[in-house]
Amino acid sequence: MAHKPERMCVGCRKMFEKSKLLRVIELDGKIIVDDKQKVLTRGVYFCRDKGCIAAARKKKALSKHFKRNVSDDIYEKLSEWI
Ligand SMILES: [Zn+2]
Repeated sequence: MAHKPERMCVGCRKMFEKSKLLRVIELDGKIIVDDKQKVLTRGVYFCRDKGCIAAARKKKALSKHFKRNVSDDIYEKLSEWI
């Protein structure tokens, strides 16, 4: 069985195959949902569960990760991808 890269969901802290997760990254100073995962950078991963997005929003996971104030809009955008 080939090894597939796994990442941890910031909401439920479970490991998932990277390709199944949504990734949020900082690109050119903007925080965006990176659905293609082509940019080589660190990001925050979310499994496709609204509960995880809500949990991350509550604990301001993105603001903590990017060490800046991340607007709640991004969580709305993430919900649209689920
Ligand atoms: Zn999750």
